[in-house]
Amino acid sequence: PEQSVARCWFNGRLVDPAAPQISVYDHGLLYGDGVFEGIRFYARRPFRLQAHLDRLLRSARAIALELPYDAEALTAAVHETIAACPLDDGYLRLVATRGIGTLGIDPRSCARPNVFVVADRIVLAAESSRTRGLRVAIAATRRLPADGLDPRIKSLNYLNHILARMEASRAGADEALLLNAQGRVTEGSGDNVFVVRGGELLTPPGIDGALEGVTRAVVLELAAALGLPAREASLAPYELHTAEECFLTGTAAELLPVREIDGRALPSCPGPVTRAIQDAYLALIARECGTEGQAAPT
Ligand code: PMP
Repeated sequence: PEQSVARCWFNGRLVDPAAPQISVYDHGLLYGDGVFEGIRFYARRPFRLQAHLDRLLRSARAIALELPYDAEALTAAVHETIAACPLDDGYLRLVATRGIGTLGIDPRSCARPNVFVVADRIVLAAESSRTRGLRVAIAATRRLPADGLDPRIKSLNYLNHILARMEASRAGADEALLLNAQGRVTEGSGDNVFVVRGGELLTPPGIDGALEGVTRAVVLELAAALGLPAREASLAPYELHTAEECFLTGTAAELLPVREIDGRALPSCPGPVTRAIQDAYLALIARECGTEGQAAPT
């Protein structure tokens, strides 16, 4: 049988990723009580690690989860996991749970958070959809309101997004887009969304219910550097349905062009703005990590 490429760092040491590490009493499992990050590495170097660690530490503070490791220790854990992994290009999942407690919800029963890093391959979309584009569908399932769970917290609570994603799959689409309770576009099930309208690049503001994506921030940086007009804007389904171009961004997704929204074909996919950002994104990864990355060449 093929040797697994997965590696796992758990509470300070490398362990067998196939062996059970998490207790059935872990509140991350029982209640989704925890926070996480997904981080890509290219040529064995993590991309934008600082931004991911900053967000993880903010998420942990927001849910009053006192991590037993500081940024420096987490950085060392990430590098140790990559060093142990045979892959040059791969994906890391960094998770911190409330830890082992009683079966009751009270987090005070949890003595110490569990922290782990898994390195593995990630395949999010077929290679063909990276070049030909994805079909997306707006889900009937609305995103949890910000006054219920702030979208800036990257928590283990993804059921809302999973239900939306199941709807999209049933509709024959590759990815779901979620609206907020007011009917504004927020994000995909695991990615942020951008549209091009009147030559302008638009993405929903965090306040509408988008995660402050690391890739989203990179795309806004790249647009500024390229002199492409880009801004945050509240978007209704109409703005998506009548867009010139659309693409999704995320650590796993990288930059995925969208070819169809709710059965309406977009006029160009990947369009000229999408391609320009894609090229700039690949060049940035090459500069920061010294490689081509995995995003589709254009
Ligand atoms: N929104 C959601 C709900 C996500 O899970 C992700 C993936 N982390 C993103 C957006 C994109 O964020 P990033 O670019 O930081 O990976």
